[in-house]
Amino acid sequence: MRALVLDGRLTLRNDIPMPQPMSDEALLRLRRAGVCNTDLELIAGYKGFSGTLGHEFVAEVIQGPEMWLGQRVVGEINVGDETCDFCRRGITSQCRHRQAIGIAGRDGAFADYMTLPTRNLYHVSATISDDAAVFVEPLAAALQVIEGVHIAPRDRVVVIGLGKLGMLVAQVLRLTGADVVGVVRHEKQAAMLERWHIPSAAIEDLPTQRAQVVVDCTGNAEGFNAALDLVEPRGTIVLKSTYAGIPPADLSRIAVNEIRVVGSRCGPLAAALRLLEAGLVDVEALIDARYPFELAEQALEHAAAPGMLKVLLDF
Ligand SMILES: [Zn+2]
Repeated sequence: MRALVLDGRLTLRNDIPMPQPMSDEALLRLRRAGVCNTDLELIAGYKGFSGTLGHEFVAEVIQGPEMWLGQRVVGEINVGDETCDFCRRGITSQCRHRQAIGIAGRDGAFADYMTLPTRNLYHVSATISDDAAVFVEPLAAALQVIEGVHIAPRDRVVVIGLGKLGMLVAQVLRLTGADVVGVVRHEKQAAMLERWHIPSAAIEDLPTQRAQVVVDCTGNAEGFNAALDLVEPRGTIVLKSTYAGIPPADLSRIAVNEIRVVGSRCGPLAAALRLLEAGLVDVEALIDARYPFELAEQALEHAAAPGMLKVLLDF
C-alpha cells in the first residue's frame, strides 16, 4: 500500500505492507485526511518522530467487529495502554506509555490503510461530509480550550495565530458569548472572521494587559510573548501550540503578574461531532487546497506555505 513516511525526510512510498489489526483493533481504509501544523512541526524535527504521518482523517472500517464493519469513522488519536494510572482514571491522552497516531510510536493516517483500537472509533453520521469529518480532530482540540479554562460570557478573550487551529478556536469560543477578538496579520484572516461575526484587530491596535484570557495558536515564540503583553494580571494564557524550537520568553512576567499558563492538546471528539452535526461551526471555509494522495509530498509542501489554511488529501 501507499504511505507518506517521515524518516529523516518525507517520502511517499508504495511498498509499505498492509497493517494487520490486532484483536481489539479495526482495519480502516482511508477516505480523506487533513494536514495539521503538527505534521509540519514533525517534519521540522519536533519530537523526532519517524513513521507514517497523519492524524486528521475520516475512514471506513473494512475489517473488525461486525458492529463496526462498513461504518464511516473518525478516531481518537491517542492510544493508551489501558493499564497505567492515567488510563485507569480515563485520561488516555496522558497515558504513561502514550502512542498517538502519526505523532508518537504509531503509524498515522497518510496511508491507504491503518489500524486503530475500536475503543478509539467514533461513528460519523451521514449528515457530516467527508470534508467536514476531517475537521473533527482539530475541532475537538479547539474545544479542549474550554475543557481547561472557564471562559465566562463577560470575559474578553484574544486569540493569536489565526491559522487552521486558531480559526476553529475562535469559532468555538464565540459560542461561549464572550467578547472574542482575533489577532490578524492579513486581510484574508479578517474577512474570514467577519463571516462568523468575530471582530479582528492588528496586534498593535489592541490594548496591553486587558484580556482575561489569551489563547496562543501561533506555534512560535513571538506568539507567546504577544500573549504575555495582552493578558491582564491574574489572567490566563492557553497554549495550543507545539514548538519545534524552545521559545525565548520573559518568564518573570508570569510570576510578577501572577499569570496562569494552561497547556491544551487533544479534546473530545464526540462534542466536535455534535457541533458539526448542528452546523454550529463552519469548517469547509477553511479548506484552501485538496490533492489526490499520490501528490501527498506536494500537498505537504503547499501546506507549509505562509497563510495556508487546511490542505486535504483525497484517497
Ligand atoms: Zn496508560
